[in-house]
Amino acid sequence: MSAHSKVGAMKTFAEHTTARVGGPAGEWITATSEAEALNVLADHPLPTEDQRAAGRDTLLVLGGGSNLLVAEEGFAGTVLQLGFTGVSAEPVGEDGVDVTVAAGHDWDDVVAWSVERGLAGLEALSGIPGATGATPVQNVGAYGADVSQTLVDLRAWDRAEGEEVTLTAQDLDFGYRDSLLKRSTIAGSVRYVVLSLRFRLRHAPGQPMSSPVRYGELARSLGLDPQLPESERRAPLAQVRQKVLALRGSKGMVLDPEDHDTWSTGSFFTNPIVPASSSASLPEGAPQFPAGVAEDGAELVKLSAAWLIDNSGCGKGFGADLVEGRASLSTKHTLAVTNRGTATTEDLLTVARAARAKVRERFGIDLHPEPILIGCSL
Ligand SMILES: Cc1cc2nc3c(=O)[nH]c(=O)nc-3n(C[C@H](O)[C@H](O)[C@H](O)COP(=O)(O)OP(=O)(O)OC[C@H]3O[C@@H](n4cnc5c(N)ncnc54)[C@H](O)[C@@H]3O)c2cc1C
Repeated sequence: MSAHSKVGAMKTFAEHTTARVGGPAGEWITATSEAEALNVLADHPLPTEDQRAAGRDTLLVLGGGSNLLVAEEGFAGTVLQLGFTGVSAEPVGEDGVDVTVAAGHDWDDVVAWSVERGLAGLEALSGIPGATGATPVQNVGAYGADVSQTLVDLRAWDRAEGEEVTLTAQDLDFGYRDSLLKRSTIAGSVRYVVLSLRFRLRHAPGQPMSSPVRYGELARSLGLDPQLPESERRAPLAQVRQKVLALRGSKGMVLDPEDHDTWSTGSFFTNPIVPASSSASLPEGAPQFPAGVAEDGAELVKLSAAWLIDNSGCGKGFGADLVEGRASLSTKHTLAVTNRGTATTEDLLTVARAARAKVRERFGIDLHPEPILIGCSL
């Protein structure tokens, strides 16, 4: 009997990604235990960098498919979908709790689980789709929080060395929507396959309060004064989760099969980080946040991709006319490129390219895609 559950070649990415586009895979394996995944991984060592760059890896690792855009031709190799789940908790020190999660566990279920138990640290990351194993890849973040703030370490299979490794948060060298895991992925070919992760949360006894609320819009919606020192900007955990879900819902950022604004990969573009000198010509009112310094010492700022798109003439719903209505920017938020029901991968890319071109033309700023593109490019 096979060590893992295999499904025929007819399974498509359109059925298994949130953008609901993309063709079939040569072979589709859903590993329901870590041992099953390791068996498959042993058969797929990491190819050379050149082979990877040419899209010749025979393996594609899949979580929830919420940050992936795959070509209509599909993927000729093996898709390994990590379907193993499990969460366990262990107290550490006075009020710490280490929560260990299997890679295939649904991320929002972990957040809900932690909030129900009065564990603070993940609440602002409510409503983000996908599997927990993928969260460190792009250092998933929202509303002033990201996973680098609570991740202690993870276990992964290193396909280059053919061995299991433990990578600490420091090893992962997190940045904005970035990590060692992402930097070592080439054209969707993953070097480290995350197997399990350990987060350190804080047990908040009595009325469990959140971690400091860092994001102004969220603080305001909770009735907190954004001017208060960060350490005093806390609210009941469950209330923070509820507000985040409501705010995200209003922007089409919580999956809803009935709502085409959520048939997307979430934000299609990252917020550009550029030298302060190149943002000086932006109009007053363009959001800019300090983002450290470049290697050459130049001061960097982070811009808002949504603002740039909005202000370059691409409003909500933009791009529908380019693809006979099959795709457009979300009608709730200009950062998401959405499938209106019958879109192809190329339709989504056409809308994204048009928005990117408008921003480049109007502001001279290049936008970069957030999702991983397989067999296609922007
Ligand atoms: C409606 C919506 C809202 C979103 N909101 C946010 C948001 O607020 N903030 C945010 O940061 N993102 C957001 N996203 C993007 C996405 O949900 C996250 O990036 C999520 O972590 C992707 O998880 P996944 O399991 O779906 O990954 P997948 O799409 O399956 O995979 C993404 C990449 O990670 C790799 N990968 C997957 N699992 C593993 C693993 N175990 N080990 C190594 N590599 C792996 C894949 O090979 C691929 O390269 C949103 C997406 C949608 C559709």
